[in-house]
Amino acid sequence: MLPATSPHPAPPPPPQPSPRSTLITLITLATLASPPTPAHAAPSVFDWPQHDSSRPKPPVVRPASPSSQDHPGQAPSDAVVLFDGSSLAPWVALDGSPPRWIIQNGALECARNSGYIRTLQAFGDCQLHVEWAAPTPPSGSSQGRGNSGVFLMGLYEVQVLDSHHNVTYADGQAAAAYGQHPPLVNASLPPGHWQSYDIIFSRPRFDDRGNLTAPARLTVLHNGVLVQNNVELVGPTGWLKRDPYRPHPDKLPLALQDHGNPVRYRNIWIRELGADAQYPEFVFDAAFLSKLTGTYRADDGMTITIAKPDPLLTATISYPGRSMVFPLHAESSTAFRTRGLDGRFTFRTSPDGTPDALVFRVGGDERVVRRNP
Ligand code: MG
Repeated sequence: MLPATSPHPAPPPPPQPSPRSTLITLITLATLASPPTPAHAAPSVFDWPQHDSSRPKPPVVRPASPSSQDHPGQAPSDAVVLFDGSSLAPWVALDGSPPRWIIQNGALECARNSGYIRTLQAFGDCQLHVEWAAPTPPSGSSQGRGNSGVFLMGLYEVQVLDSHHNVTYADGQAAAAYGQHPPLVNASLPPGHWQSYDIIFSRPRFDDRGNLTAPARLTVLHNGVLVQNNVELVGPTGWLKRDPYRPHPDKLPLALQDHGNPVRYRNIWIRELGADAQYPEFVFDAAFLSKLTGTYRADDGMTITIAKPDPLLTATISYPGRSMVFPLHAESSTAFRTRGLDGRFTFRTSPDGTPDALVFRVGGDERVVRRNP
């Protein structure tokens, strides 16, 4: 008699992972992943055979056009334009309020008691082009004459000063890494003339415990003349002090100094370099970020809690019995991403700017979670 059923039934299909379990697996793997190769690890010549035609070609870039005293040049096509004579949109005051510097005749001028300004976007390794002019007729002397400054990451100052027939201490004159490295030569033009800085900056590196693994390095050309040749900074620049390094984020805003003198700027552009160019990052003030905080809940019990411990927002993704925390880096005022995990968080806001939902995307999976009222 034949058995009622086959003695070797086909095995049941393997259980399909639910979107939720896929999501948990992706997030968990990301938290276990080994750290990426340091951003400053230079590729080796021997990574490729010589003259390999399959080696990726560098991207094509339209180069910068030169400036004259009468007309600013144009930024290269892949630069982030920070000031083109028309808009202060990339800038805020240090507290995040609108900048109080003024635009006059296409130049950005430090107005009296206006305070430092900083970029909304943050930068790490970069090539920076800045043009500036000291006030004319000149007034004051030493550090009191045409003083301003270009602060890379808001911490490392390339001094701006009228150093044309104006004696001051060497590590405080124009193009000095302030308080650390005098320029190799004094390539200053007279006050009122447009001068240029072309700066190549390598940010400091810190390990996971905040220990310095590589100091910041700085190269500066002043009016086309090399004045800082890959110098090593010993820490943040400062007056009367040489502070040691303290760990800080990989990217921070660029700042321009208000030192009480109406120094003017024009044609400011920046190119992010290396891995730091992979994603744009912005730094918003605490009041703005606080509006995004709250708990967002999905139908299956997953919650995402957005908090602001300082300085970054964090997202805590929670399922029953499991919880993971990720710092969030702003790519725009509504889109944030994580590092080490290809996760993106996009806030959906109502017309008054209040967020009502969060789109969470990881590994091709997208979820919309609603904000708890
Ligand atoms: Mg200064």
